[in-house]
Amino acid sequence: MFTLEDNQKYTAESFIKNDEIWQIINESEDLAKDKDLVLRILEKSKKAEGLTPKEAAILLNLKDDELIKEMFAIAKQVKEKIYGKRIVVFAPLYVSNYCVNNCTYCGYKHCNENLKRKKLNKDELIEEVKVLESLGHKRIALELGEDPVNASLDYVLDCIKTIYSIKFDNGSIRRINVNIAATTVDEFKKLKAAEIGTYILFQETYHKDTYEKLHISGPKHNYNYHTTAMHRAREAGIDDVGMGVLYGLYDHRFETIAMLMHAEDLEKNTGVGPHTLSVPRLKKAENVKLENYPHLVSDDEFKKIVAILRLAVPYAGLILSTREEPVIRDEIIALGVSQVSTGSCTGVGGYAESQKELNEKPQFELADHRSPVEMIESLMTSGYIPSYCTACYREGRTGDRFMTIAKSGELNSVCEANALITLKEFIDDYGTDNTRKLGNALIAKSLNRFPNENFRNSVKKKVEKIANGTRDLRF
Ligand code: SAM
Repeated sequence: MFTLEDNQKYTAESFIKNDEIWQIINESEDLAKDKDLVLRILEKSKKAEGLTPKEAAILLNLKDDELIKEMFAIAKQVKEKIYGKRIVVFAPLYVSNYCVNNCTYCGYKHCNENLKRKKLNKDELIEEVKVLESLGHKRIALELGEDPVNASLDYVLDCIKTIYSIKFDNGSIRRINVNIAATTVDEFKKLKAAEIGTYILFQETYHKDTYEKLHISGPKHNYNYHTTAMHRAREAGIDDVGMGVLYGLYDHRFETIAMLMHAEDLEKNTGVGPHTLSVPRLKKAENVKLENYPHLVSDDEFKKIVAILRLAVPYAGLILSTREEPVIRDEIIALGVSQVSTGSCTGVGGYAESQKELNEKPQFELADHRSPVEMIESLMTSGYIPSYCTACYREGRTGDRFMTIAKSGELNSVCEANALITLKEFIDDYGTDNTRKLGNALIAKSLNRFPNENFRNSVKKKVEKIANGTRDLRF
């Protein structure tokens, strides 16, 4: 349980100022009609040095189709400038659906009395990890509802230890990102000591009145405590934090500008901005009716949001989940997305056959049901290099070290090299004949694109070693 001191240490009002956000948005409506100004902002965004909230707001208000098309093309270029053609692949792992909160939009809300509550025991967790490893996953996002009694932080720490320790065949989970409720500096220190990758927490909505209305009861009702969680995580020494907004709860322009202000403040006051940004859109769930949410985001608005986030925070990983339909998902990936989930289950025990019935009531409905192999093939066919890389945090490239390299534009070669090495692992261990054919051709073609001969040769050597059976190589 948090203390008053935990709650008062940082104040959300110091970086989320409703009036200021609305003023920026309102002033931008007219400015967005000024073609020369928009062209200047687009020109600036090509440098991949980010945008101010005001510039982002102007782009959010953009209506001119030609300029929007131009913005989409630049977002793709900027993503490739920072991260190359690689798209990181991961899967969520739900370990508990116990939850003491009543968040109106969530299938796991406490008042959903018919939902069978479940937390994985050690054997069940091992079963889940076995399935995830057999699908080729190396990176997971650990997910659970908030319940300090039924699923305490000690339970989470035990899960992390178990997951990192078990290896089936050539499988291993090498990075565990953790999406758990806002907590205290002391508990964040324990997560850091457990060697988590990114600490992820979605803000849901930055609009305080809406936040308090939608989070009816439970600790999550506390807007200030939730909104300042990243500041406490950074104080505890967690280098990589992942932000997100649940689009559909409030005006998407307000949410986007507020998230950028949150990112700016975090960077200014803790030295590091967000490692990732997530853009979940509200989906149907048990006792959640989309008709009750007047701010649902259309596909066209959603595309603009993704492209603008890429331009505004070019160094951040941009994550797209399987909440989106395959066709729209493929379109959105091209607008600057750098990480995708695949083959996801959002129910507890959803991966192992023995637990399937629990997955019938997931946290929310998914729309992209492609298996990892199908998704990997689709990414390769679209010109991307799917990546199971987990190198950065294992090589100490976290926090400000990561940001400095990402901002310098020097990360892309390392990203592509690690993508090729881990793709080779994936196709050899888990691919079909078709995956291997597509993958080997892509690897051969991409290897020849590294301009530096020495680097090219050392990537080639590592790929050859993987082909000969060595595993877990990286730069
Ligand atoms: N302890 C965290 C919590 O309970 O919020 C765990 C994160 S939860 C497992 C992951 C995220 O799913 C939430 O932060 C929320 O943004 C999102 N989510 C919840 N209900 C959703 C819905 N109906 N549609 C889409 N996303 C939803």
